Amino acid sequence: MKTIYVDNNATTQVAPEVMEAMLPYFRDYYGNPSSMHTFGGQVGPKVREAREQVAELLGAGADEIIFTSCGSESDNTAIRSALATNPDKRHLVISRVEHPAIRSLAASLTKQGYRVTEVPVDSQGHLNLEKLQKSLTPDTAIVSIMWANNETGVIFPIEKIAELVRRQGIIFHTDAVQAVGKIPINLRDTAIDMLSLSGHKLHAPKGIGALYIRRGTKFSPFLIGGHQEQGRRAGTENVPGIIGLGTGCQLAKKHMDQENSRVRELRDHLEKELLYRIPNAVVNGDPLQRLPNTSNISFEFVEGESILLMLNEYNICASSGSACTSGSLEPSHVIRAMGVPFTMAHGSIRFSLSIYNTREEIDFIIDKLPPVIERLRLMSPFGNQGSNACTRE
Ligand code: PLP
Repeated sequence: MKTIYVDNNATTQVAPEVMEAMLPYFRDYYGNPSSMHTFGGQVGPKVREAREQVAELLGAGADEIIFTSCGSESDNTAIRSALATNPDKRHLVISRVEHPAIRSLAASLTKQGYRVTEVPVDSQGHLNLEKLQKSLTPDTAIVSIMWANNETGVIFPIEKIAELVRRQGIIFHTDAVQAVGKIPINLRDTAIDMLSLSGHKLHAPKGIGALYIRRGTKFSPFLIGGHQEQGRRAGTENVPGIIGLGTGCQLAKKHMDQENSRVRELRDHLEKELLYRIPNAVVNGDPLQRLPNTSNISFEFVEGESILLMLNEYNICASSGSACTSGSLEPSHVIRAMGVPFTMAHGSIRFSLSIYNTREEIDFIIDKLPPVIERLRLMSPFGNQGSNACTRE
């Protein structure tokens, strides 16, 4: 049975063009770019080209990009750099719906005496800008707000937030791991100081990421060692990964229109049909201010995990908004932060599409999911309630 992969916010398939571009750098040109000899030196221009390709997608300068091992490393580097370069400041501001790469770091920093303010979101997933503004103090070292949410796809007005933060003279970082490649970004015209991205979310491989650091931003490296990345990130470069990321960014730029038209249409078709066919289902997050590929839907009276398991029987790969922690099924912090009612929060499923999805695949999901929900509702302790509610409507 063919795999229908609609979990692209978790990770993406490596594009064939990316694979092709990388292969020679595993097989033939395996030199170390720092070596004195010609064999090592010949990979340098390819690394430079990749840096330019990443910068081009972001509307940045190549000298403003450093390569990292992943989005999490980029996030950690940005926050730790801001704290290290502002040693007298002990406060940071994040949103309540950040990825664990930011939230868990912030939680660990509180144990070291830092204060963290988590700015709340409303029921549509929008950030409360007034609360954000009020949270800024002379003690704030950095504000880090994600560009787009990984679970709901909700996009924050990052340019506006960056301006607001800059007016207070505070460093602004954005985790743009889900936004880069899906929506146009032009950093040249913004007040963003640092931005994180990750290769495996844009059809490049896992294990490669990048951090944009605006020219002139005070910076303190996270990894200390050799002089790679102009002393900003030690460690021998992941040359094939870097080349893969560069090619992935080049492809993302080429496919941006398709992402925002064809992929968006497929997502909207999926959503419209599921909501039409399945009673007691709602979309989580602002339906308009959203990534074009993401749909997060709550199906009342069922467990997200049960839906996923049954979809898995059809080789449909999606993801659930809840995580199973210490034996209890807790809805995700994002869905909880939006105040989604308990019976809805537990049944949330995220579909995240890519340019490789077809109309046939989406129609297959539309065909298979409604009877799955119906069956689960009959089995659930709330099943009859759910079914009755459906028939009454
Ligand atoms: N930030 C966001 C918003 C993400 O969605 C992810 C991955 O899911 C990360 C950070 C972490 O990226 P990586 O897996 O490259 O460490």
